[in-house]
Amino acid sequence: MEENPLSARWFAAAGQVLPKGGSHNLRLFEPFPLYDVKAVGAYVEDMDGHRYIDFWQGHFTNILGHNPSVVVDAIMEGLNRREGLETGFPGCRQAELAELILSVIPADKIRFTTSGTLATMYSIMLSRAYTGREKIMKIGGGWHGAQPYTLKGISSFQRGFSSVESAGLPSSTSEAIITTQFNNLDDLELQFRKHGEEAACFILEPFIGAGGFIFADKAYLRQAREWADQYGVILIFDEVISGFRFCAGGLQTLYDVTPDLSILGKSIGGGMPVSAVAGRDDIMRLCSNGGNSAKKVRFEGGTFSAHPAAMIAGIAFLRHLIENQNEIYPRIGAMGIRIRSEIEKIFRSRGFSVCCTGDGFEAGIKNSSMVGVQFLKREVDRISAPDMIWDPQINDYELREKVFKLAMILEGVNTYHGWGAVSAAHGEQDISRALEAVERVADKWKRYLST
Ligand code: PLP
Repeated sequence: MEENPLSARWFAAAGQVLPKGGSHNLRLFEPFPLYDVKAVGAYVEDMDGHRYIDFWQGHFTNILGHNPSVVVDAIMEGLNRREGLETGFPGCRQAELAELILSVIPADKIRFTTSGTLATMYSIMLSRAYTGREKIMKIGGGWHGAQPYTLKGISSFQRGFSSVESAGLPSSTSEAIITTQFNNLDDLELQFRKHGEEAACFILEPFIGAGGFIFADKAYLRQAREWADQYGVILIFDEVISGFRFCAGGLQTLYDVTPDLSILGKSIGGGMPVSAVAGRDDIMRLCSNGGNSAKKVRFEGGTFSAHPAAMIAGIAFLRHLIENQNEIYPRIGAMGIRIRSEIEKIFRSRGFSVCCTGDGFEAGIKNSSMVGVQFLKREVDRISAPDMIWDPQINDYELREKVFKLAMILEGVNTYHGWGAVSAAHGEQDISRALEAVERVADKWKRYLST
């Protein structure tokens, strides 16, 4: 409060006109969030004049860091040509962005919308229409946005991810959504046996994001593909976080497992609101006018779908990632390795049991720039599923989110979900400074515990 009087005051004022003080609960952490005035590269400056090394990076969108010139210049040039704000015409750019994405994602067709939430919702509507089935299989601890088909089994571990986590949903929600444990083939087999004939789709993140930064095992995804085929279930990979994060394309390519539908979001817009469903032509066709009318899916509308400035941004961003992939991904991946290993060393050498998630080696993924810091209550061989993140007997989630997060902010480092994402704008010096901050926090905690 003393350090950030302006942010505190701003938050209090915002609470007068906005529920909770804003429009995205995750951003509104206690006691008050920071209000950014400038965000460039690896750094964000707040209205009280503090600078933070930022690992949140726009909800992990900004693979090139904040406001990279490659995107900003493209948008400015577009605006100077009077191209950028909504016109209501299809525009020439969306096919260009579609071609770019389809050159690296194995899918026939793609349709754009504006948020990951809408894209996952539409993908489930497509699956239900295509199969004529009702049920949805998802991962316990999987987050696919706040839409009615996936709001069960997200973070409420107490009842084994069996709770519907929002009021205001149809009474059939609980029955319609089946959850299964990530990376657990026995449970997956059981759920397919029990529900496979009635399930329209199985939606999962090949890299679990909010559920703990955990990669799927290769065997798990391959078997999911096989069982989905066997039971006629549409396999949906939610690559909202993983798309273009670990390579210039989907994580599916690194696993060599192709889903029926892929969800992309975050980075495909280069910081602008773009998301997409990409997939098999026979499924995607249901949202076009030529579709069988009884099965036509109203994946349509959206005043701002394929928004001109967002298309310009997405094209500039993805083209840059594709052209520079050999330089970008190994570099941010190497920084990820360094952070994960050094944080573990720092805490363990001071007697704290800390494990970093985000490592993809076991799954054969080399360049992981995602880092999760987990404070264990008891040692485990490996964190393989969100259940272990949310189980209060295993992991101290509160320590991570309430104490570590705020301690790092006071040290000038902004983290989310335990740490966050390294961007190409971060340099080794930024990483060293962030790790020195971790050392200071760990030292303080050690001193505190020994007094
Ligand atoms: N799917 C995943 C895996 C996500 O992480 C998110 C958001 O973080 C979403 C879907 C929802 O995307 P959006 O916030 O753009 O609606």
